[in-house]
Amino acid sequence: MVTAECNLSCRYCGGTLATMPRDITYDLHDLREFIARDREAVVAFYGGEPLLRPRLVQRLLHELPARHFVLQTNGFFMEKLGPDVHRLDAILLSVDGRPAVTDGYRAPGCYRTVMKARDWLHGQEYAGDLIARMAVSRQTDIYADVMHLLQRFPHVHWQLDAVWSALWGLQEFKEWARLSYLPGIERLVREWAACIEQGTVPGIVPFLGIMQRMLWGGSGLPCGAGSSAVAIATDGRVIACPVAGELAWNEMGNFHRLRQVTIGEPCTSCDLYPLCGGRCLFAYKERLWGEEGFDALCAVTRHLVEQLAGVRGVVEDALPGLEKELRYPPFNNTTEVIP
Ligand code: SF4
Ligand code: SF4
Repeated sequence: MVTAECNLSCRYCGGTLATMPRDITYDLHDLREFIARDREAVVAFYGGEPLLRPRLVQRLLHELPARHFVLQTNGFFMEKLGPDVHRLDAILLSVDGRPAVTDGYRAPGCYRTVMKARDWLHGQEYAGDLIARMAVSRQTDIYADVMHLLQRFPHVHWQLDAVWSALWGLQEFKEWARLSYLPGIERLVREWAACIEQGTVPGIVPFLGIMQRMLWGGSGLPCGAGSSAVAIATDGRVIACPVAGELAWNEMGNFHRLRQVTIGEPCTSCDLYPLCGGRCLFAYKERLWGEEGFDALCAVTRHLVEQLAGVRGVVEDALPGLEKELRYPPFNNTTEVIP
């Protein structure tokens, strides 16, 4: 976490970083040593908005001994990275779908700014992965918004604005899921499979990530929070989930001493656990929508998995020519896979 500061105040954001120092207070040498212990380390720059501190990101891109670098950004300050952008393996640009949906959740002009950032990256001939990172909430038409972004980005990922949402409650979410989200997912899966049959793989990250586990296996939380992935707060505390701030269960320790934070029942006995991994550590621990809310999200996950299981044969038939595209994400690029 490069800084706790952000230039925006999006409607669905909990702003959980308020209690963290605005800027890094620990010794960067300790961070370097910590990263050096893992030969496969992936470093993702996160915030707040990391590009509010572009010189620090540039410095870390040169100094940290990581195998991969990832950036999550709102795109407002993309150009400040200059040629160092080519050091990044993946960039996740926050954009929620069509212009009115994005600007409605985020701020007027956000959509245009993200597209400008994307165009700048194209102008730089950026060759890394570009991921449209959506938050999906009450105004989202999942079919229309994902299709819109797929025409503009190689990969699209989304996370549901559920459990900690400031925009709606459980009953409204359930109604929206039944009337809009689940039918939209069915349509998206059908069209995704039809494209694969024709020899192209639309970059719909939740579909790819779940199908990857169906075909080649995998285990645990897809985001890795608390075990294979950690977040480093600006004061040097090592925490499990970057959005959970200072909750006691989220504390893992420091650069020198760490404990794991794990998922337990009911997930570990669930038939979907090998694919879902418990979905989200934060939602698992906090249950802000109660057991009913937890079950509602499981039902949504189950529906998605069932839809994908229904087209597994199509994907298997296409595998010989498309395996490279289908093995996605290629590393933990901070797409959490299960929405
Ligand atoms: S579907 Fe629900 S119970 Fe099953 S693993 Fe996922 S989060 Fe846990
Ligand atoms: S999916 Fe993982 S990283 Fe994302 S909010 Fe949940 S626990 Fe945190």
